[in-house]
Amino acid sequence: MSNTNIRIAVQKSGRLSDDSLKLFKECGIKFESGGSKLRSISSNFPIEFLFLRDDDIPGYVEDGVADLGVIGLNVLEENKKDVEIVKELGFSKCRLSLAIPRNEIYTDLSYFEGKSIATSYPNLTNNFLKSQGVNAHTHEISGSVEIAPSIGLAEGICDIVSTGGTLLSNGLKEVAEVFKSQAVLISNKSLSPDKKILLDKLTFRIDSVQRGQNAKYVVLNAEEKNLDKIIALLPGMKSPSRVPLAENGWYSLHSVISENDFWEIIESLREAGAQGILVLPIEKMIL
Ligand code: ATP
Ligand code: MG
Repeated sequence: MSNTNIRIAVQKSGRLSDDSLKLFKECGIKFESGGSKLRSISSNFPIEFLFLRDDDIPGYVEDGVADLGVIGLNVLEENKKDVEIVKELGFSKCRLSLAIPRNEIYTDLSYFEGKSIATSYPNLTNNFLKSQGVNAHTHEISGSVEIAPSIGLAEGICDIVSTGGTLLSNGLKEVAEVFKSQAVLISNKSLSPDKKILLDKLTFRIDSVQRGQNAKYVVLNAEEKNLDKIIALLPGMKSPSRVPLAENGWYSLHSVISENDFWEIIESLREAGAQGILVLPIEKMIL
């Protein structure tokens, strides 16, 4: 047994932090977080957490100061650090979009020809405009981008949007999506063999948690004559389990269905004669 620790950088406080910490806790990894703590070693997995500003995370992972990191794809693509993207994590979903004052008439991207755009993401914005054949000037600012048009700094903006509420309250409207983002797990490109083993253990756990989140455990009762019809609707991990009930001619079926198919399947099940349908969350799913 080696005593290598793998070191992971996560955002200290912001829109990536809560879901990052939640994910590692759901992976069964115990560690302290919060307060003024900047690093923390897990008591039950050989991993050390570093709590940092998100902007610094890709660079630390590239340099090997941290072996792994959790970062928004938008930040990673803007700064182009030489790291491996291990997997998408499915949280902190947002988009980088172009927006203009609400009362402006917008037809297509040619609107931006020759105009100035304030953004914290000049590279992503310029690459997008270039790929669309539009010549515009970006003006890099590090925050409060939405205010730029109203103070005469720029004619449009390119900023992170999730619901659009902030744009609206600043008199802006979203007109084009430039980049779709979510949190990703990144890794240094030359991990030692010991650390690679730890990364594999970690991604195995993350996969199990993610599969569980996308699936529901379904239990239902059915009369024998309806079983075939109902079983045909239930995919299950292999095939559904069938357990006889105390009452003759009745069975309980147990199966797993994906969250996405959830409502559609439940309706067909009822039509096929399923009764007493229970839908339960799955904590982890190992294939
Ligand atoms: P730091 O202080 O660590 O530098 P920050 O202010 O740069 O933090 P946050 O606002 O916490 O960054 O956002 C971190 C990341 O979360 C963004 O880079 C983006 O990937 C994602 N994100 C930003 N806004 C949203 C949102 N409204 N909804 C979901 N995810 C978002
Ligand atoms: Mg930041």
